[in-house]
Amino acid sequence: MPYLSAYNSFNVNAYTKQVATIDTIADLSKLDVKGLTPFYVIGEGSNTLFASEEVSNLIKVNLKGIDVQQQGDGHLLTVAAGENWHTLVEQCTTNNMPGIENLALIPGSVGAAPVQNIGAYGVEFADVCRWVKWYEFASGKVHKMSKEECEFSYRESIFKQQLKGKGIIIEVGIFLSHAWQPKLHYAGLDELSIDATPVQVMEKVIEIRQSKLPDPTLIPNAGSFFKNPVVERSVYEQLVAKFGAMPNYPVDKKHIKLAAGWLIDQAGLKGYAHGNVAIHDKQALVLTNPNNGNGEELVLLAKYALEQVKDKFGISLEPEVRMVTEKGDTPYQEVLV
Ligand SMILES: Cc1cc2nc3c(=O)[nH]c(=O)nc-3n(C[C@H](O)[C@H](O)[C@H](O)COP(=O)(O)OP(=O)(O)OC[C@H]3O[C@@H](n4cnc5c(N)ncnc54)[C@H](O)[C@@H]3O)c2cc1C
Repeated sequence: MPYLSAYNSFNVNAYTKQVATIDTIADLSKLDVKGLTPFYVIGEGSNTLFASEEVSNLIKVNLKGIDVQQQGDGHLLTVAAGENWHTLVEQCTTNNMPGIENLALIPGSVGAAPVQNIGAYGVEFADVCRWVKWYEFASGKVHKMSKEECEFSYRESIFKQQLKGKGIIIEVGIFLSHAWQPKLHYAGLDELSIDATPVQVMEKVIEIRQSKLPDPTLIPNAGSFFKNPVVERSVYEQLVAKFGAMPNYPVDKKHIKLAAGWLIDQAGLKGYAHGNVAIHDKQALVLTNPNNGNGEELVLLAKYALEQVKDKFGISLEPEVRMVTEKGDTPYQEVLV
């Protein structure tokens, strides 16, 4: 009976019946998908909450390999899904292939990067994605999907929607253009000069992140637990009239993105602890598991934060973290009840 604390950055020690590993492409055709069902595809488990004591079988993607080709006015990288994202960022940035330095220190695997279209400091995976190779269980075929076919948006993609549970991302194509300019418009990065080098940008991103976010190897967590909610401008204006100015990021003419961390903080929950789990005292968007709590405790904490924000602001937060139960990847509406 495999125990799973090493499989998730929350360090939750759930258990499963079976972990099937994909180390080579040949392993894909040997997968007994029917026999494994229900299952959950896992990379490094840094956006995953094992929400129950026993969870579904896991398919762990360990595919390795990076190929770099000069192509037109840039470099095309072909990267296997099991590579570590931050190591890739470091290798590219220090080898004169800039473009993803703003995405430094995001934990997890390359294969998971397209799933929620990882993003930070004004850059997201979609900005550099050329294609994604996706292995379909039903047909046993590999589909090379264009960036458009991936349907990327804020923390979203087709892999979290129509294609959820139907296959595995095995490889991504990343294009890094020679025409690089630093992206410095986010708070903290604007301290750098416009002549900043890619390495300087990466180091600054790492410095800012380390000052704000708990290191999951010291204080287990899964980064931002909730997405930043997007509301209609009229709702935002009503909130400002009632609660005063609040952080806001216009999405388009009609919609405003609010800061979920600010809402949780204003609901009085920054630093709130219950049993073995807590809301981080520096960043209320991060739920932590400092004392070896279990998935149920984290579920209750998430539910409490969700209810408090709803009561105070009338806004329904939506988790960014995937919830895994005996049924595999489970809609949060079924878990946070
Ligand atoms: C401290 C901290 C900071 C973070 N900061 C950020 C941030 O700034 N921006 C951001 O976007 N995210 C952030 N995250 C979240 C997390 O790092 C990303 O979501 C990351 O991409 C998860 O990678 P993973 O391999 O750990 O994914 P997992 O948790 O293993 O899986 C996440 C999802 O991807 C699916 N998946 C994984 N691999 C594959 C595959 N090969 N094929 C198909 N589906 C797959 C899983 O089924 C699941 O739905 C942070 C997390 C932590 C702990």
